[in-house]
Amino acid sequence: MSLDRNRYLPTQLIRQDILSLHAYHVQPSPGMIKLDAMENPYALPQNICSEISRIVASAPINRYPDAGAHSLKQRIKTIIGLPPEMDVLLGNGSDEIIQLLAMALAKPGATLMSVEPSFVMYKMIATFTGMTYLGVPLADDFSLDMEVMLATIKKHQPELIFLAYPNNPTGNLFDSASVLQILDVAEGLVVIDEAYYAFARDSFVPLLANYANLMVMRTFSKLGMAGLRLGFLAGSKAWLEQLEKLRLPYNVGILTQKVAETLLLHHDVLLQQAEYIKRDRAWLFERLVGTVDVHAYISEANFILFRLPHAAKVFEGLKQRGVLIKKLDGSHPSLQDCLRVTVGTEAENEKFIKALQESIHQFA
Ligand code: PMP
Repeated sequence: MSLDRNRYLPTQLIRQDILSLHAYHVQPSPGMIKLDAMENPYALPQNICSEISRIVASAPINRYPDAGAHSLKQRIKTIIGLPPEMDVLLGNGSDEIIQLLAMALAKPGATLMSVEPSFVMYKMIATFTGMTYLGVPLADDFSLDMEVMLATIKKHQPELIFLAYPNNPTGNLFDSASVLQILDVAEGLVVIDEAYYAFARDSFVPLLANYANLMVMRTFSKLGMAGLRLGFLAGSKAWLEQLEKLRLPYNVGILTQKVAETLLLHHDVLLQQAEYIKRDRAWLFERLVGTVDVHAYISEANFILFRLPHAAKVFEGLKQRGVLIKKLDGSHPSLQDCLRVTVGTEAENEKFIKALQESIHQFA
């Protein structure tokens, strides 16, 4: 058998739209203060770590996990106060749920709509699944441009609309009355992505029963479980029954199921950590606003978007000082000169502010 390297080339066989994509980029961060990925910066108390060790040690990892993850689902439903008649579907992170929703609704010619700038995976997954993507620009202050939103919905009637609430990377909550207007006008499914719910003052979970085309998606990544990969989609059984058909069997492993359930029995500890993050977000916001030339955007999430001259250079200056944040400059026209910092521990936030001031000074 001859190995002809010019035949079967990936570039000849793989779909053109995939060839044109850039992979989701994760920045290397060894040894750095990591404020780029909206993780919870706090370790768990020792007693919970010991409990987790015992649970992991006794988990039957030679067996497949509970395919329906019944016990974990029950726990989730209890803590979120899900209206009766509603249920949840679990995903290996909420990214997997976005993909599952797109696969379910990707009829030929179907459209996935979101706003821009927002979470980049909506567009990427639309491409993976062959959906037409429509990104409606946000207004200059990153609020919903309702005139354009409603006109776009009426014209295209997208099968699927994602709205991140609060939005990533801008950090703001959209006006809830505007979101309700969208729910009224849209004939497709509207998914409110509440990835940052733990840091926000509002949620659409209580409204699930009022709208047949509403689902709410959340992740536990930002609450302190990014390494476990667990997200969920809440909505009516009529929707979930269909979507469950697409969920791969055993998508949530036994260690994730067991550890997440244990952590959710200590939900108060995680919520307390979220309170520290909200407190420190206020501290960080004040420092950013008080820094010459910096414009910071009010955030209801665990990160803050800010704009400043020479953002790309300042970003490099921060890296040289051992602080990794996210450079958004260059990713979208309305994010020119924008950076995004995740709220860390008090000590990390202080180091970030010091490194920021030094870097700004360096390039002033
Ligand atoms: N939605 C939004 C708005 C996000 O910002 C993120 C993570 N950056 C996700 C979903 C995905 O989260 P995960 O896959 O970790 O659950």
